[in-house]
Amino acid sequence: MTLRLFNTLSGQMDDLVPSDGQTLRMYACGPTVYDYGHIGNFRTFLQVDVLRRFLLLTGMKLRHVMNITDVDDKIIRNASAAGIPIGEYTPRYVDAFFEDLDALRVQRPEEIARATENIDRMVALIQKLAEANAAYQTEDGSWYFRLSAFPAYGKLSKKDLSGMEDGARVDVDEYEKDSARDFALWKAAKPGETAWDTPIGRGRPGWHIECSAMSMAYLGDSFDLHAGGEDLMFPHHENEIAQSESVTHKPLAHHWMHVRFLLVDGRKMAKSEGNFYTLRDLLLRGYKASAIRLALISVPYRHQLNFTFDGLIEATAAIERLRTFRERLTKGVFAAGSNPELKAAAETAHSGYMAALANDLNTAEARAPIFDLVRTANTAIDQGKLLADDRDAMLDVLRDFDAVFDVIEDKDAVPTQRAIEWAQAAGRAADIAPELLARQSLTDEAIEKLVAERTLAKKQRNFARADQIRNELAEKGVLLEDSKDGVRWKRK
Ligand code: AMP
Ligand code: ZN
Repeated sequence: MTLRLFNTLSGQMDDLVPSDGQTLRMYACGPTVYDYGHIGNFRTFLQVDVLRRFLLLTGMKLRHVMNITDVDDKIIRNASAAGIPIGEYTPRYVDAFFEDLDALRVQRPEEIARATENIDRMVALIQKLAEANAAYQTEDGSWYFRLSAFPAYGKLSKKDLSGMEDGARVDVDEYEKDSARDFALWKAAKPGETAWDTPIGRGRPGWHIECSAMSMAYLGDSFDLHAGGEDLMFPHHENEIAQSESVTHKPLAHHWMHVRFLLVDGRKMAKSEGNFYTLRDLLLRGYKASAIRLALISVPYRHQLNFTFDGLIEATAAIERLRTFRERLTKGVFAAGSNPELKAAAETAHSGYMAALANDLNTAEARAPIFDLVRTANTAIDQGKLLADDRDAMLDVLRDFDAVFDVIEDKDAVPTQRAIEWAQAAGRAADIAPELLARQSLTDEAIEKLVAERTLAKKQRNFARADQIRNELAEKGVLLEDSKDGVRWKRK
């Protein structure tokens, strides 16, 4: 099965296939580690995870590289405000980033490239640009890319650059979004700033040269796919193309994928807007990591998603439905045999699911047949029509659903516990929702003990105590279900 993926460069849907016929080589821009990421950032990483997991599900081999920008203006500014070198400032945010990725079950790329460990490669690329007359040095020792040396500039974002002023420069990492200028490749050291002594002078790399140098070092001059959030299309990706292609004269990447921004109240979620939530903020309010994952991936990557708490509540309920269904299948007893109608239903759901993902990763359309199947199968179980082979077929469908969505397996306790411990250590204990603390304080053993006590109380016809225990557990988010085979409990 081949993925048809919208390609920003060609402006149409193209097949995504490895150009070497074997391994798909892809580069996705990673975080700038100056602070905790917000869930808008994570929506982009999650959508790349959906892409990654779907490709793996179709049997493709991947070499996926992500960078970590661990030197830039904001990092230098924040580290200097904290009075520490950047090498001491960034590790905590690198660790936090990976912790958040793990909580959201984002798979690790094959390779992680750190900017500060690849300075020599960036310097070498700038030297080649200088040889090609596409880079020049200014009086202060900084290096700039000469935009007029690359006539194809703008081909990705389809910007009309007429009226561009030759030699106009911009030297900050936080670029103007609408004007194209000669941009910094290398920034000469200012007193007290982190800098490297190199053949092109003492200084540090610009942001764009990082991704050009590292993507080509790890994946070759020309690779299959380059991905990032929509804000990176211009100027970051456009600049990467200009830098790389001026030297190699080959397309940097054949396919470009851009994830649309997460909005809040119709505005983009951004640090600068002050309207953001970190993953930790949401975990501390009691939302589960799986629900956050599902809410952020259920709207396809090219559609605008407006973040709401209702969306998280909907995702929580959807996951509960799936988990309960799977438990019914795995714990239930089914007679041998197969029901042709259910076999067909499982096949239809599976092919609908795969086809939707193969069509530009349409996660919303991929979900629908799975939930239809859950409804059909639940009814069949109620009516005693679901047989052992059908159960296996249903479990196979759920397995492939989870290969991409990864929300059915309940691994939510650890991220929540970690967020609580982090908040306590960071002096933010007041941000922890009280019911969350109550819920987390109850161990599985304590629940089992109360459940056993309640069973005994009922046997002794002490219904008041039995009810009291049920209520106490409910307050702490534990639900009891009485069935023929005894009492089952689960956390909300
Ligand atoms: P940064 O750490 O700022 O370099 O951003 C990391 C990634 O998050 C980039 O791919 C950005 O394009 C992406 N990003 C930033 N804000 C949002 C948002 N509101 N929605 C989706 N992606 C975003
Ligand atoms: Zn990049």
